[in-house]
Amino acid sequence: MSNLDREAVPTLCGGRGFVVAEPVRELLSPRHVKLGESTEVRRLLPNLGRRMVGAWAFVDHYGPDDIADEPGMQVPPHPHMGLQTVSWLHEGEVLHRDSTGSLQTIRPRELGLMTSGRAISHSEESPRPHARFLHGAQLWVALPDSHRHTDPHFEHHADLPRVTAPGLSATLILGELDGAASPGTTYTPIVGADLTLADGADLSVPLEPDFEYAVLCMSGETHVDGVPVLPGSMLYLGCGRTELPLRAESDASVMLLGGEPFDEELVMWWNFIGRSQDDITQAREDWMTGSRFGEVKGYDGDPLAAPELPPVPLKPRGRVR
Ligand code: MN
Repeated sequence: MSNLDREAVPTLCGGRGFVVAEPVRELLSPRHVKLGESTEVRRLLPNLGRRMVGAWAFVDHYGPDDIADEPGMQVPPHPHMGLQTVSWLHEGEVLHRDSTGSLQTIRPRELGLMTSGRAISHSEESPRPHARFLHGAQLWVALPDSHRHTDPHFEHHADLPRVTAPGLSATLILGELDGAASPGTTYTPIVGADLTLADGADLSVPLEPDFEYAVLCMSGETHVDGVPVLPGSMLYLGCGRTELPLRAESDASVMLLGGEPFDEELVMWWNFIGRSQDDITQAREDWMTGSRFGEVKGYDGDPLAAPELPPVPLKPRGRVR
């Protein structure tokens, strides 16, 4: 998915200054963002209160939306730089096309992982015909400096490893949890897992004390370390935990996102992650002049134009709140 916010403002993120070293419980409220005419998403990262969780730099939760008589998701070709996109569905399907020639339908609990490296472009659309409901999350992972110029590529993993326990079924999206490991390529120590909890489940999942974590509620109600978290909200948990208590008050599902705190300071604007304003300015110019980002074949429509860059230079990084 693309950041379709026309008021695109550069965000400075990354660096240890934002990380909370101890266990905390910070409930993050979403910002409601319109994507096109009909779709509204709930943006959890970047958030006024928090920019990143490990290398996770962008989290949108959308749906469940009834798209029976609607086009559904229609995101025209747009570029990315310096990041990986994770497409994650609970209901519906998304057809992905990209400038490396990928053409892939992504279904619930399958991983669509696109590594932009230095430059890629892609489109995402609800296929025709499509399922009645669309429900999922779109996430970005920042690439470290050592890999941000890598070749672009796309991975699709339909059969991800699972961890089960009474009342719990966990699917590994990225990284490792309780001995299971996702086949998705990662460039920093990171984890992403989808946890399905049965009504009344009361359990703990093992964590890495050096990672920072957050839990995004997808559906139902889950008490995360005692804090009720409802769909479209995310609880930031800080670092220093070896386990996380979860109690489901209904059938519920959450995404566990974590990783080693991301040391490098980043500039994020529109669909790009760079290290300087010059990186961003150059990427915007390359997209608008049709260079570097390749071409998406087969999408019925024009590519997205980049928004205007704000005239003022980037402000120094502020505090988290
Ligand atoms: Mn995108």
